Amino acid sequence: LHIVSISVEMAPIAKVGGLGDVVTSLGRACQEEGHKVEVILPKYDTLDYSAIQDFKEITGFSWGATYNRVFHGKVEDIDTYFIDPENGMFRVGMIYGTDYLEIPMTDAERFGFFSKAALEFMLQSKRQPDIIHCHDWQTAPCAKAYWEDYAPYGLNNPRVVFTIHNLNYGAELIQEAMTYSQAATTVSRTYRDEVSGHESIHENIGKFHGVVNGIDPDIWDPANDDFLPRYYDETEVIEGKAACREALCAYSNIPNKPGVPMVGIVTRLTPQKGVHLIKRGVMRALERGCQVILLGTAPDPTIQQDFDMMFHQLKQNHHDFMAFHLYYNEPLSHLIYAGSDLLLVPSMFEPCGLSQLIAMRYGTVPVVRRTGGLNDTVFDYDVDHKKAEWEGMKPNGFSFDGMDDGAIDFALDRAINLAYDKPKDFRALQANCMSQDWSWNRPALEYIEIYHAARKPY
Ligand code: ADP
Repeated sequence: LHIVSISVEMAPIAKVGGLGDVVTSLGRACQEEGHKVEVILPKYDTLDYSAIQDFKEITGFSWGATYNRVFHGKVEDIDTYFIDPENGMFRVGMIYGTDYLEIPMTDAERFGFFSKAALEFMLQSKRQPDIIHCHDWQTAPCAKAYWEDYAPYGLNNPRVVFTIHNLNYGAELIQEAMTYSQAATTVSRTYRDEVSGHESIHENIGKFHGVVNGIDPDIWDPANDDFLPRYYDETEVIEGKAACREALCAYSNIPNKPGVPMVGIVTRLTPQKGVHLIKRGVMRALERGCQVILLGTAPDPTIQQDFDMMFHQLKQNHHDFMAFHLYYNEPLSHLIYAGSDLLLVPSMFEPCGLSQLIAMRYGTVPVVRRTGGLNDTVFDYDVDHKKAEWEGMKPNGFSFDGMDDGAIDFALDRAINLAYDKPKDFRALQANCMSQDWSWNRPALEYIEIYHAARKPY
């Protein structure tokens, strides 16, 4: 298959969230399966050019009352085309956020323009891919524009596949793309079911699939991770994690207490992530004598202040046991995944979630709220044996359903009890986590099947 992904994010050169990771990792995985993958991206002035190979201007076209220069380069070995409108709409120092700037274009207008410019580029460069893959509200306009404005005029081989990474934004555009695409997906099966009552989705449920995201096993690999003081694989988990915990405590300026469980949290601090449950989890873990390290970014200053205050209050009684790092830090996130025993992910909703998958790869047991992708990937140690078996998996964590203190306490307590009282069983659980394959191998095959299905005559 020849697949063209039209996206406004792409890791690692233009990443804001999970969407950017999926475009790159899925693209790479499809290439490894022998398919031809290309990505079309806006040429932001904020691109990380150090991660683009052989970057150069290759062509251009006039369209949309402006001249559009087109650049090409390789990103993680994927052929990537960059569209640079001369009117400068992508030279504003940011990927999102022009709604608040003094320029006359909103994000929706800029990405609407880009969606059509990408189709125009395909038409003018005589590309006839098999699949056009568009993502979320930003490139949702491709679906309708393709069938109405391009298919009748010669760009008519492709079929459109549309992926919802988060339904929270751009409902109207998503509805339109759901109607006009030949297949649609979202990033886990449970999230698919959770949003299936939504009007736009309900009407198109027959072509709507849930495919759980993967993680890139080269980037997240304890046996080869340069952010760690010591590499480790399944055969030396105890020593490896102990060394990472030592470094994590040193970085966090607290003494290491190896006899008690280390609870890690790596997250955006937003309502989606269950802020009140995160707070409760921190409290409970400290009450139970654990050490707790939180790495979190709060876009909302009120939440940031809240956590600042909580930290200063808790620090008085639990000085040696906790650290909050309220900023974004990639290397530190690796150290937390490696140096913790438990990772807490109590999201209110979670289309897929990557942190629980990363934690498992590092032998860290996830404690999660049972929602979206968390429900598809974490199998509770006490109750999900059968469910895990059906999936060809083993229990690998702890889950809870509710939204109150009692719910999270119960799951966290079970996890902490196992770590304290049955260290051997806890080690076996860590081994289960590490042995599971959450790479893109399986999801890529599912996407390829969906691509093929989208090409069937209808
Ligand atoms: P979302 O995309 O909703 O934020 P995911 O779990 O899908 O949630 O992905 C989160 C990614 O961002 C993970 O790779 C996680 O390690 C990373 N991350 C989140 N917060 C931070 C932070 N403060 N510092 C470093 N990495 C972070």
